[in-house]
Amino acid sequence: MLQLQNTFSQTKERFKPIRQELVKVYYCGPTPYNYAHIGNLRAYLFSDSVVRTLRYLGYKVQTVMNVTDIDDKTIRDSQKAGMDLQSFTEKYTGLFLEDIKKLGIIPADTIVPISTAIDTMVEIIQKLLDKGYAYLAEDGSIYYSIKKFPKYGQLAHLDIKGMKSSVRINNDEYEKESVADFALWKAYDVEKDGPNKWIVKFNVDGKEVEVPGRPGWHIECSACNLKHFGPEIDIHMGGIDNIFPHHENEIAQSEAYSGKKFSRYWMHSGHLMIDNKKMSKKDGTFYTLADIVTKVPSEKPEMVYRGFRLMNLQTRYRENFNFTFDRLTTAIQTVKGFDEVLKRLKHYNPPSGKVFRDFREMMQQYVQAYIECLEDDIGTPEALAIVFDCFSFINSGIDTNAFSLEEKNAILDLLHSFDEVLGLFDFSLLESTDIPEEIELLLMQRNAAKEQKNYPLADSLRDQIGSMGYKIVDDKTGSHVEKV
Ligand code: AMP
Ligand code: ZN
Repeated sequence: MLQLQNTFSQTKERFKPIRQELVKVYYCGPTPYNYAHIGNLRAYLFSDSVVRTLRYLGYKVQTVMNVTDIDDKTIRDSQKAGMDLQSFTEKYTGLFLEDIKKLGIIPADTIVPISTAIDTMVEIIQKLLDKGYAYLAEDGSIYYSIKKFPKYGQLAHLDIKGMKSSVRINNDEYEKESVADFALWKAYDVEKDGPNKWIVKFNVDGKEVEVPGRPGWHIECSACNLKHFGPEIDIHMGGIDNIFPHHENEIAQSEAYSGKKFSRYWMHSGHLMIDNKKMSKKDGTFYTLADIVTKVPSEKPEMVYRGFRLMNLQTRYRENFNFTFDRLTTAIQTVKGFDEVLKRLKHYNPPSGKVFRDFREMMQQYVQAYIECLEDDIGTPEALAIVFDCFSFINSGIDTNAFSLEEKNAILDLLHSFDEVLGLFDFSLLESTDIPEEIELLLMQRNAAKEQKNYPLADSLRDQIGSMGYKIVDDKTGSHVEKV
């Protein structure tokens, strides 16, 4: 039984989708005004684990992610870069998609630059004006009146009455202390917005009014959801910093618009920290994925990506965790350990035989324990502990030549199924790596020399193989060569 911690109720709840046949999952996408930092990427590793787990458990899942290509920061920095907003945001969106691919994150089924959903934003804002939740202010912007929505503050667990609230706020981001009416549509400001102006019409108190401007950040995700999923979804995710004001405002907009419960479950991931402070672009305290690759020059980039992925899976998603290079290098060593086991399996070719009952039961226990860990609010660290245990079982079975060919194949199936969630194993290591005949011949000669205790000859043949770009690996099951 899958249980998820719902930020809304602050409890772990049994997961019951609206429709069993299709689970609708949304997560807030990047603001493409610069490279993503590894803190941002942690948020997407988290949503990836949730989606992969749902699919592993047999749910059919549809995912949508927005790209915040219109906001204060993209508008400001595109002008600084002397680029038009679209080319500027497309550049950083492309880089973001490359980064998530490197980390083995499955991209959302539908990725929506929110500039493509302006029509839906206008539709929502119009309805909010009609229902009295929104008003056109004297500064030419349209605001959401939070006092009209009695449930305001429930997601972030704010006591609105006890707060000293300012009247209204025009920035996309602000702190809980400044809780206020927020902008749905911002009046055009030539200094800030430059060439970025959308001319739309609203009907305000029976009069058609042209309101040149641009959308606020929060309406964008409400519109994206409505356009692609309709008024109700199953799971909405993001980093904890998105709870307020962003997700609180999304609820206020979407529920006032439709009169329905917007999302059944709200899930939020903790922050990635440096020196115990939140990694943040604003404060200049961050690393990009490319930075961490550069800082670990002794490792191939793929190993750094896999190490970083593992580090995240080793932490409960709701906890903040401190990024250190020591932790990263330890994680890389662990990934190398996984690779060693796969290589051992490749070269372990036992004869065909039985699948013993004990063995079958062992496999079932691994699967069951793994599922139970994931069902407990996506417990990837605990699921990994099961995988480590399984790897020791595999290693000792190979050491004692305990498996039949059929059992070996069952082990490979198990690892494939674990990896549906983990996305960590390199199964290409199992493929045959066409070792040239000449090298195989030298290996045979070297093994024969070793058997005859002619060690000088065995050593010189090893060196000869080494000089040709291969290395000999000896283990309990025999010797084989690998490309260096
Ligand atoms: P942004 O591109 O700023 O809109 O952020 C994209 C995602 O990254 C959001 O879900 C944020 O909550 C998340 N995020 C931002 N900073 C961090 C951090 N230091 N650690 C984890 N997640 C973060
Ligand atoms: Zn959002």
